[in-house]
Amino acid sequence: MEKITTSIITIGDELLIGQTIDTNSAWIAQQLNAMGIWVHRRVAIGDIKEDILEALEKEAAVSNIVLITGGLGPTADDITKPTLCTYFNTRLVQNEAALANVLHIFESRGLPILQRNLDQAMVPESCTVIDNKRGTAPGMWFEKNGKIYVSMPGVPHEMQGMMESYVLPQLTQHFQTPAVIHQTLITSGMGESFVAERLVNFEAKLPPHVKLAYLPSYSLLKLRLTAFGQDKVSVAAEVSVLFHEMKALLSDIVVTDQDITIGEVLGQLLKERNKTVATAESCTGGLIASWITAVPGSSAYFKGSVVAYAYQTKEEVLGVKKSTLAAEGAVSEAVVREMVAGALQLLDTDYAIAVSGIMGPDGGTPEKPVGTVWVAAGSKDKVNAVKFQLRYDRERNTQMTAVYAMNELRKLILE
Ligand code: AMP
Ligand code: MG
Repeated sequence: MEKITTSIITIGDELLIGQTIDTNSAWIAQQLNAMGIWVHRRVAIGDIKEDILEALEKEAAVSNIVLITGGLGPTADDITKPTLCTYFNTRLVQNEAALANVLHIFESRGLPILQRNLDQAMVPESCTVIDNKRGTAPGMWFEKNGKIYVSMPGVPHEMQGMMESYVLPQLTQHFQTPAVIHQTLITSGMGESFVAERLVNFEAKLPPHVKLAYLPSYSLLKLRLTAFGQDKVSVAAEVSVLFHEMKALLSDIVVTDQDITIGEVLGQLLKERNKTVATAESCTGGLIASWITAVPGSSAYFKGSVVAYAYQTKEEVLGVKKSTLAAEGAVSEAVVREMVAGALQLLDTDYAIAVSGIMGPDGGTPEKPVGTVWVAAGSKDKVNAVKFQLRYDRERNTQMTAVYAMNELRKLILE
């Protein structure tokens, strides 16, 4: 089967100065990957005619499909459309459906229509117009010398709507795509190089169409097995056998055999056991509660959180003893243990998670340098407390703390 390749060109000065993070190409790549279409290159360029023309030519030389986002807005800085006319040697003509869409959007919002908005209904004559159900700028599908080019708006929500409703189904029709199966195992407590050491023999015997990827994320490690083939059922069966073999080799460190978040892992465990949880968060400021409630249906097991940032809140709301705070400091084993006890009582849950740490960049002392964090997870019968020494920036330290704390509760539940 011929390998089908794609280039993604994202257009916009804002991408080059880092004002907007290019999420479009990541999202598009995920969709294509799931269909077995290989992303050969991702290119980000500014709103500059020569650069757009050059990128189109270069990418079409190496890919079957060129997907483009950005530069379709009604303002003068957006020049993708006239540039496409130059590239495809065509002219702009009015598209009736696109015009009706623009008129409808402005009328329904009670806004006056400007010429620049009407211009959004002008499209290159040689393209197939793709409806934009979420905005005014239509998408454009071109074919030239056996290559497919699709131009879409930069607004992620609009681009995604077009991809799902039109572009992906069309690509499936145009190309015979291979079956692709991914299966993901998540582990904790062992660095990726040690895991790789354990999997040396397993990896060595993987057939060429099966790949193993190591994706460390915070303190967890994702191991993704991916296989390509002709037939979905046989590929799935093959991956399943290999996946179980890998899982057995790592059984002592497996967190989950699904590609889910730590919040979902905890949610499944609590739900199965019909147990509830609360959090008492100092340095994470509610992040753990936010990750728990990011899971639909979390109301079945999550009762609430106390963001106890100040000493006073730890004492008055959670009942942490003044003497403990004075003797041990807020970042201490004794305090996180008392925070767990306080949350269990106050929020009347089976389990509680507590964290207290120094996230940086300031606030460290010789005994407790920046990155010192205590996490505790427990029930009325047992509380486990662990100290970590983190070494990243404030944002990452906070996220690491949340993962560590949630993972401690996972381990405690499984004890
Ligand atoms: P445009 O089609 O150029 O008018 O893009 C409109 C808006 O979409 C821009 O202001 C950006 O905020 C956003 N945007 C453009 N390109 C991207 C991208 N590659 N990833 C995420 N957002 C984008
Ligand atoms: Mg733009």
